Amino acid sequence: MAVPLQERLYRTEAIVLGRMDYREADRILTIYTPQRGKLRVIAKGVRRPLSRLRPHLEYFTRCQLMVAKGRELDTVTGAETVDAFLPLRADLDAFGHASHMAEVLNRLTEDRQENRAAYELLASSLHLLADAVDPFAVTRHYELALLTLLGYKPELYRCVSCEADLSAVSNAFSARLGGVLCSLCRGADGGSRMLSVNAQKYLRTLERHGLATAAKLRLDPGLRAELEGTTSDYLRHLTERDLASLKVWHALRDGSPPVP
Ligand SMILES: [Zn+2]
Repeated sequence: MAVPLQERLYRTEAIVLGRMDYREADRILTIYTPQRGKLRVIAKGVRRPLSRLRPHLEYFTRCQLMVAKGRELDTVTGAETVDAFLPLRADLDAFGHASHMAEVLNRLTEDRQENRAAYELLASSLHLLADAVDPFAVTRHYELALLTLLGYKPELYRCVSCEADLSAVSNAFSARLGGVLCSLCRGADGGSRMLSVNAQKYLRTLERHGLATAAKLRLDPGLRAELEGTTSDYLRHLTERDLASLKVWHALRDGSPPVP
């Protein structure tokens, strides 16, 4: 028996995380939604110039969708923009960091697992990027908050091996053990990396006092690289793969072709 149309349709807000061209004029989109988590949906005819859906389904657009349940993929039947985050599209730094945030969420989550807080975090972080808040601070805050929401909060206060309170000296970060190792335990993970006092301070400030306080701290390029390297290591360990977006952004910014 055919299912009545109203039972096959649902309405949802969504943010477009990624997309892939499909057939002649279609696209398969990866979207993140407040109630249904990550979904893959098909937008038919969206690559045609006059498609009604097209302007609402660009990267990172926050939109309201009407979706029809399908046997394999659900189909987008209507779309309206809630926030296009337009300034993101004219700013390479902001766009590169937005791509990274979308990629991290995509890689760290399974399909159809609701996490409303993760949705709100992505939406608010995109908003801050579009408002020209420092992409470095927005992104490190997003990574730490998302890791916490998904149960991967890094341990920043006690050694992950001996559990002693960490002193204000250079310690090490272990991606495998999910936190900081004291100087005596550094050998517990041969793949750990040095973590300076200032990098530990920054991460603790982000965690305890949030983005507004952390964004006021002045960071030299070396400290920025150290912090980005540390979170990248941890994300690479959790997702078991290299994340591409930040590499591409670095390559574009530095004017060299992206490293494969
Ligand atoms: Zn220790």
